[in-house]
Amino acid sequence: VTAFAATRTDALARLDAFLPHAGRTYAARRNHDLGPGDRGNVSALSPAIRRRLTTEREIADAVLAAHGWAAAEKFLTELCWRTYFKGWLELRPEIWRRYERDVEALSLRLLEEPDLLDRYRAATAGRTDIDCFDAWVGELETHGWLHNHARMWFASIWIFTLRLPWQLGADFFYARLLDACPASNTLSWRWVAGLHSVGKTYLVRADNIRAFTGGRFRVDARLAAEAPPLPPDPPVAPTALPAADTIPDGRIGLWLTSEDLHPESLPLPPIAALAAVDRIGGAPAPAKAAHVATALADGVARAESLTGHTATRLPEPDLETAIADWIADHRLDAVVTPYAPVGPVADRIASLRATGLPIRTLRRDWDSRAWPHATKGFFAFRPHIPQLLGLGLETPTR
Ligand SMILES: Cc1cc2nc3c(=O)[nH]c(=O)nc-3n(C[C@H](O)[C@H](O)[C@H](O)COP(=O)(O)OP(=O)(O)OC[C@H]3O[C@@H](n4cnc5c(N)ncnc54)[C@H](O)[C@@H]3O)c2cc1C
Repeated sequence: VTAFAATRTDALARLDAFLPHAGRTYAARRNHDLGPGDRGNVSALSPAIRRRLTTEREIADAVLAAHGWAAAEKFLTELCWRTYFKGWLELRPEIWRRYERDVEALSLRLLEEPDLLDRYRAATAGRTDIDCFDAWVGELETHGWLHNHARMWFASIWIFTLRLPWQLGADFFYARLLDACPASNTLSWRWVAGLHSVGKTYLVRADNIRAFTGGRFRVDARLAAEAPPLPPDPPVAPTALPAADTIPDGRIGLWLTSEDLHPESLPLPPIAALAAVDRIGGAPAPAKAAHVATALADGVARAESLTGHTATRLPEPDLETAIADWIADHRLDAVVTPYAPVGPVADRIASLRATGLPIRTLRRDWDSRAWPHATKGFFAFRPHIPQLLGLGLETPTR
């Protein structure tokens, strides 16, 4: 069974092991869900990339060096789906806020509608009598991870066969996935529901599941035969990406969060003090909480050797006072923290800044260059990928 990397050392070992398969083999085999015992046909790096124990840049460089663009185009394009989704949501934070409001309202509705609550409980307990779906619930609970194809099938069954609100499915995933990402998760669920590519839904068919799961499932329950698009929600126009913060002179403290744990590749100024917060936001399942804690501890340990400072652990409940005290204790002029994309950590940073704390964010060049192109669908983003990868004038093969 795949152990998902929660440290940089494990992530690099995983990348190393996967590298020979990242070329044409990946393109041919990636859609097969071979089960929790065999993840050799995909990288299984998402929990590590999500928290930037390793970066997109680093992975792309290694894969390009091993295979070149022509053989690795599929893998590199998939890698850039994460970048695209992050950029798309970054330009439309209202979609995330709307999702959060919807989850809250639907959680109350569950209490008022016994029929809806029963169906929700059966689905989330893996008691639907759809053998594959029930197995994926178990896999998610046990491993905190599902293959991409299984995530698509799961969401399609949730929305169109079980007729449950997509937001509750996304929330169920978000609490459990080790790689839970506001952008990739919310926007993928919206994509299946026909809200991302408006009107274009994803309908799963039983023979497709059978074909790509090596006969593990019978799928003899009736799956929905059609997937009518949900009523479109009000469109949100993309905003311009704000300019990245400039870092002032003076004594600067580094505050690490679980959003970006590779300080070694950030353009850091000289650092006078180091801090970290254990966890921000949400109510993660225990396995996810443990994963995030291990990843953070790993990032903090590397930041300690990079900067030569021992990290101060700031308590979450009264973060504002704790940061203010830390700034005063170390006579800091400003605090830098890696840019947090749309989500609970970004919200927390924004509210701390709003109190006047001198916090500046460090945005990676990869994000600053890519995100402004996420204004429309992926097909409009895709032509920018070779340039993002530094391939100069080389053009995609298709
Ligand atoms: C309903 C649904 C929910 C999802 N929720 C999340 C989520 O919360 N967090 C998350 O990281 N991914 C999410 N995904 C995207 C995708 O399923 C995972 O990123 C992928 O399965 C990770 O496996 P891997 O690392 O083996 O990917 P590989 O196939 O090895 O791809 C390499 C990397 O490319 C990126 N990538 C590949 N496919 C996608 C994709 N479709 N969308 C975005 N990035 C991609 C990931 O960083 C991945 O690690 C979701 C997909 C669906 C359909």
